[in-house]
Amino acid sequence: MDPGLSTYPRAGQQVAVSVLLPLPLVTPYDYLAPDDLSVEPGSYVEVPLGARQATGVVWGPARGGVDPEKLREISAVLDLPPMPANLREFVDWVAGYTLARVGTVLRMTMSVPKALSPPKPVTAYRLAPGIDTKSESLPDGVRLTEARKRVLQVLADGTSRLAADLVRTSSASSSVIRGMVDADLLQQLAIQDEEPVAQPDPALAGAILSDVQAAAAADLVTAVAAGYSVTLLDGVTGSGKTEVYFEAIAAALIAGKQVIVLLPEIALTADWLGRFEKRFGVPPVVWHSDLSMSERRHNWRAVLYGQAKLVVGARSALMLPYRDLGLIVIDEEHDSSFKQEEGVIYNARDMAVVRGHIGDFPVILASATPSLETVDNVWRGRYRRLSLPERFAGASMPSIAAIDMRNEPLDRQSWLSPNLARAVSETIAAGEQAMLFLNRRGYAPLTLCRACGHRLDCPQCTAWLVEHRLLDRLQCHHCGYSAPPPKTCPTCEAEGRFAACGPGVERLAEEARAKFPDVRFEIMSSDTIHKPADAIALVRRMGAREIDVLIGTQIMAKGFHFPLLTLVGVIDADLGLAGGDLRAAERTYQLLHQVSGRAGRADRPGRVLLQTYQPEHPVMQALIGGDRDKFIETEANARKLHNMPPYGRLAALIVSGRNERAVDDAANALGRSAPRREGLSVLGPAPAPISVIRGRHRRRFLVRARKDINIQDILRRWVFSLKVKGGVRISVDIDPYSFM
Ligand code: ADP
Ligand code: ZN
Repeated sequence: MDPGLSTYPRAGQQVAVSVLLPLPLVTPYDYLAPDDLSVEPGSYVEVPLGARQATGVVWGPARGGVDPEKLREISAVLDLPPMPANLREFVDWVAGYTLARVGTVLRMTMSVPKALSPPKPVTAYRLAPGIDTKSESLPDGVRLTEARKRVLQVLADGTSRLAADLVRTSSASSSVIRGMVDADLLQQLAIQDEEPVAQPDPALAGAILSDVQAAAAADLVTAVAAGYSVTLLDGVTGSGKTEVYFEAIAAALIAGKQVIVLLPEIALTADWLGRFEKRFGVPPVVWHSDLSMSERRHNWRAVLYGQAKLVVGARSALMLPYRDLGLIVIDEEHDSSFKQEEGVIYNARDMAVVRGHIGDFPVILASATPSLETVDNVWRGRYRRLSLPERFAGASMPSIAAIDMRNEPLDRQSWLSPNLARAVSETIAAGEQAMLFLNRRGYAPLTLCRACGHRLDCPQCTAWLVEHRLLDRLQCHHCGYSAPPPKTCPTCEAEGRFAACGPGVERLAEEARAKFPDVRFEIMSSDTIHKPADAIALVRRMGAREIDVLIGTQIMAKGFHFPLLTLVGVIDADLGLAGGDLRAAERTYQLLHQVSGRAGRADRPGRVLLQTYQPEHPVMQALIGGDRDKFIETEANARKLHNMPPYGRLAALIVSGRNERAVDDAANALGRSAPRREGLSVLGPAPAPISVIRGRHRRRFLVRARKDINIQDILRRWVFSLKVKGGVRISVDIDPYSFM
């Protein structure tokens, strides 16, 4: 028995422990820990569950309440380091905060079941005893061909190599290698294929920092050694935030700690990966949804064994079983992709701060447009702020101006104003590059029949189908439904009467190409960029000036550095302002600021033109005037007035199911039992703005509470006491970002 369990209560002769299983369970279950197994808190164990075996984690002392006679025994302890105590505490915390089942949260940390068992041994080769590269050491009658010599040379350093590696490095075929085994020149052995992770070298020289950068870096380096803290690294686009936090990473690595860097749009961060490799000598370990099974398995184990020192990834990288975490960096902390909207609904930025608090290590939040939540934490003294107010190497911030669309003569089916078109010509004539931003994928967001007015919509959602002309498909952006465009109207059967309404990037490109036949345009959206290699290719082609103008969606807003890009034109600056989203203004500001930040990043000054119908809107005024802080203050005051986050608490409930009656029944029952108390209000039930998604009907509640009210306790009592029927699901969204 492990000393870690000595304080646990005993059931008869054996210690009883609780084991949490990665299943939708709200508590761990009790099991007996046999004396011959070395079980400790955090051990990954196999236990009987009904008629099958399940793998879980020893969570703590037995919970009791089960007849000791009926307790079953842990059947095996897996050969893995135990899950660290602070990760177990974190799992409990996340479950408590998000109201998710604790077993479901555990499952996020065990997302690669195959990684729990060691990989199968593979064949490797080394020199047989007494053999070296000299011919006098050879067994009698053995001849050395050129290929055999090359193999001996590769293995001369005494290490063993995997068959595939040996074939590659020696250029000898595998039959040559087998022949050498038969001739007693080589020894064959089975080894575990835990390919070691290349270790980043913090001692390599970083960039030579400017004084402001160096001061910020020194401050972060000190923070790395000083336990929990949260620092907002607040720097304009192009100020060198990445170079600065690299120094904090180096300090954590020198201290032997593991580090997480969370980035939005991980598939597009080729530039970041290249910069990391340049600074630390090796590529980082990555974690995102596009990894192959063997990469996932390898990386998960490397994290648990403490081999992976730096992991860069999407939000789920936060949930890996780090053995000794010492720093988390969240780049673009304001980005809404850190919020997971399905399964366990959580915000990885906020949970990272919790993880830092539990593990007593620092967290760095970097952004040019920090979220109001974060800025408010700075104002209240809970987070520190380091500012980088200027672009690196004297590059100036771009000038931003509005094009008042109320005064621009536009042809029908045209979106590029004469003013913006002129700016594009000037830019190209000056030998520079431009970017036209429209945050809409595809050709047109709506297709309707001119004969009867029918709108083509998704059969599974209350949403229009988006035409993607390049693919010759209609797509639903909510459920992924896709179909070829129909020949005739499904309602009136008219032929060839469809009209595309509104622009997407494909349609904008069509207009731009017609206006500028000699200019080379390229579309950049998630339809054209699927993987890091696509982004690398695009960056290369921009650098080689094979492209004059990029036309794209928000995918080009972040991280890209195109030195010759001097003009950014925003086609519909008002697009994000419509709708009742409480963060509509904040998000529009952030997005347009980010896009603007692509202009003039090197020696040539940049300019930004915003096509808008409301140039007097506070968002446009803040962008034009470059007065971010005043904008944040105005936003803060508006939120304060309405007790909206971060000045009040917000939670959403989404009741959904295939059977509309059952959904309404459940929603109405919830409505009747809604909590009534001072400082808390419940809105709903109301049909969700997208009232059907994937065939599920949806009703919403919005719960608003004063900051001092424990909204989780109230929700738990209210929601969990309701018995739902008919396949209805109730999901709880604490701190909602989506109101659809
Ligand atoms: P941010 O993340 O603040 O937008 P980056 O870290 O991406 O800024 O830096 C912008 C550009 O300036 C990058 O190309 C980066 O390599 C360069 N840069 C920033 N600081 C330095 C420095 N101290 N030395 C050399 N290049 C730098
Ligand atoms: Zn759909």
